[in-house]
Amino acid sequence: MSSNVPITIAHGDGIGPEIMDATLRIIDAAGARLELDEIVVGEPVYLRGFTSGIEDESWESLRRTKVFLKAPITTPQGGGFKSMNVTIRKALGLYANVRPAVAYDPFVATKHPGMDVVIVRENEEDLYAGIEHRPTAGVTQSLKLISRSGSERICRYAFEYARRFGRSKVTCFTKDNIMKMSDGLFHRVFDEVAADYPEFENEHWIVDIGMAKLADTPEAFDVIVTPNLYGDILSDIAAQIAGSVGLGGSANVGAECAMFEAIHGSAPRRAGQNLANPSGLLHGAILMLVHIGQGQVAARVRDAWLATIEDGVHTYDMYTERSARQVGTREFADAVIERIGRRPRRFSPSQFGSPEEVAAPVVAAAARPSKQLVGVDVFVDLEGVAPGELADRVKPLGQGFELTVIDNRGLKVWPGDSSDAIVSDHWRCRFERDPASHAEIAQLLARLAAADVDFVSAANLYTYDGKPGFSLAQGQ
Ligand code: NAD
Repeated sequence: MSSNVPITIAHGDGIGPEIMDATLRIIDAAGARLELDEIVVGEPVYLRGFTSGIEDESWESLRRTKVFLKAPITTPQGGGFKSMNVTIRKALGLYANVRPAVAYDPFVATKHPGMDVVIVRENEEDLYAGIEHRPTAGVTQSLKLISRSGSERICRYAFEYARRFGRSKVTCFTKDNIMKMSDGLFHRVFDEVAADYPEFENEHWIVDIGMAKLADTPEAFDVIVTPNLYGDILSDIAAQIAGSVGLGGSANVGAECAMFEAIHGSAPRRAGQNLANPSGLLHGAILMLVHIGQGQVAARVRDAWLATIEDGVHTYDMYTERSARQVGTREFADAVIERIGRRPRRFSPSQFGSPEEVAAPVVAAAARPSKQLVGVDVFVDLEGVAPGELADRVKPLGQGFELTVIDNRGLKVWPGDSSDAIVSDHWRCRFERDPASHAEIAQLLARLAAADVDFVSAANLYTYDGKPGFSLAQGQ
């Protein structure tokens, strides 16, 4: 028999301690071989002045065990508190968020009885970099960062997941008809990675219609891989329509470490009353057991849980007139423990395949293309001018750079007549020069400064192997 696997646990806030106790009792009874290291995170830590909700010594435990089973925490109201989940995700490099969305019809109300979809969400990049500015009084901006290596890693993870869990299709969602560069890269990398996994069907949907399709016909999807923001929205939609928001678990996986939790929060109003449903955290624990190579224990736990649900033993949130018995958190855990070793009758018995984890994707370094500086976009704060006036003012300052286009919030307003379009104080003046140098760009900015042009930022324009590394203005 293999030795116990060290894991870090946190009982969390609100209903957290009750559902954690229930979960640990169930997985222990099913034969989980674990060595628990407990840390305290969340509200008490926030209130002691740690703005990220986690203390320094807890990192030591997480870095040692590399596996974290976390009950939900409460983020105190008021400013100054940072999301602990985001902090942990970033610090431990947990790049993949995996959320199965499964319908448990007829025991849990759902519009989609056959739904069984896994969302694989990129977890580190995209608009979640949190790099935001207010360049002018009237405009704010948020930087969306998508890397080739980050995209490749998450797409490979999705296909490896499909392979490991016997799935047949991987679908990519992006909005690359609009964000041709950032989402375009994600989509392109998905296609490249898909070619390495010919045994799986693969496809791409534009995210808006893709989400609509999922909400209507989830049976059309199997594994979905998508950038961070879309994945955030999509995984909540998927859980909601499956009917399993209160039942779902999720995994946050990195190259070394992984965190497992319920998708719901700490439900403070239900705390301490032996009411809460422990199923969400239990599903997180099932994902964890598979991750650490105890897939057979995971299957025993899940089968016992399915048998419990089938027998109509339900907590208050699942209880209907068709239930046999309404129970509290502890009694629900007892009911699952009693059924360990039983197989579900209506649902298919769980199978988690061979005991190894999803293979950590290997991302090869891409060849560096030849990079050439060919100009600069200068963003300018200016109110109450016509595009022609702005052009007349900045064009003569080009001196070697050609002013090729001016836009307002991305919409081209010069050259040409677009007097209706201007509504903001945020302008972009594109100056092109091939080749250009950093010194020449600095001199251009110095001339603009000397002429009292309030430039709020500048973005260099590059080509890569001769291809533009920048988008055209809408209408250009
Ligand atoms: P919530 O998920 O805690 O509660 C939403 C609703 O679902 C409530 O009516 C609640 O009673 C019910 N509910 C949730 N889990 C349940 C369970 N296991 N059994 C029975 N009923 C359950 O969401 P919220 O009220 O928006 O947030 C409460 C707190 O949780 C907030 O402080 C929030 O920041 C935190 N939160 C934490 C996490 C996390 O730690 N991962 C995630 C989401 C929210």
